[in-house]
Amino acid sequence: MESYASICKIVNLIKPEEIYHLAAQSYVDYSFQDEFTTLNTNINGTHYILSALKEFSQDSKFYFAGSSEMFGKVTTTPQDENTPFHPRSAYGISKVAGFDLTRNYREAYNLHASSGILFNHESPRRGFEFVTRKISLAAARIKLGLQKNIYLGNIEARRDWGHAKDYVEAMWLMLQQNKPDDYVVGTGKNYAVQEFIKKAFEILDLNYEHYLKIDKNLFRPSEVNLLISNATKIQNIINWQPKITFEELVSEMVLFDYNSLKNQLK
Ligand code: GDP
Repeated sequence: MESYASICKIVNLIKPEEIYHLAAQSYVDYSFQDEFTTLNTNINGTHYILSALKEFSQDSKFYFAGSSEMFGKVTTTPQDENTPFHPRSAYGISKVAGFDLTRNYREAYNLHASSGILFNHESPRRGFEFVTRKISLAAARIKLGLQKNIYLGNIEARRDWGHAKDYVEAMWLMLQQNKPDDYVVGTGKNYAVQEFIKKAFEILDLNYEHYLKIDKNLFRPSEVNLLISNATKIQNIINWQPKITFEELVSEMVLFDYNSLKNQLK
C-alpha cells in the first residue's frame, strides 16, 4: 500500500472488474501508539488506488471500507449516512479522509466508487487484538485450564456487532448496483462489552465474574462509547439484511476457539 508504482503496475496489468479496498492499519488502539504509520498508510494507500484506477482502469468498480469509527463522538443516535463525523483516533481520521477521497473521485472523475460505513463485524477470523476474539479465546483457554484470568479495559463501551459474512455480502451488493453510493451497514442492535463476555463465558458454562480483571492501561485516551447503526438506506435500496444474530456470532467464535484448542491439545 506504500508504493504508488506497484499499485499502478498491478491495476494496469489486471484492470480488475471489482476492487475491494480493505487494506489498512485497522486497529484503533494501535493508531494511538503510531499515528504516523496509520495516517500515512491508510490515507495514501486509498489515494494511490483511486489515482491508479483513474489513470489505468476507469471501468473498475471500487469499494472503500469506511468505518463506524468515523462517527466517533456521536451527537445523534442511531447513526446513518447523514450523521456528522467526529473521529476520535488517527484510525477514524484516516477513514474519514479515505471516505472523502472516494466520494471526490466519484464526483470529479465519474468512477464507480462506493463506500460502506461498516459497523464492527466479527468472525472466527477476527484478529486477537480485538475485544471479541480476545474474549472468545480467553473463554476457551480458561475452560481448558490454560489461562486463569482475562484483563479488559472499558467494558461499558457499546458496539453494534454483526457477522463479517453478512457484511461482505453487503460490500459485494454495493458494487452490483448501477449507481455508486455510500451506505451504512450494521444490525441496528447494540451490546456492551460486558454483555459479550457474559454470553461468551456462558456458552462454556463459565461465570465471567470469576475471571474478569479490569486493567486501567487498556482504557483508550479517547473512547467511542456508543455506536449503533441505522441501516435503512441499504435495506431499502439494495434489500440487504443481516442474517446472523448476536447470539449465533458469539457462539460460533467461542466454539471455534474451544474446538481448535482442544484439537491442538490432543
Ligand atoms: P473497535 O470498535 O474497532 O475499537 O474494536 P475493538 O474490538 O478493539 O474494541 C471495542 C470496544 O471494546 C472498545 O470500546 C474498547 O475500548 C473496548 N475494550 C475493552 N477492553 C478491551 C480490550 O482489552 N481490548 C480491546 N481491543 N478493546 C477493549
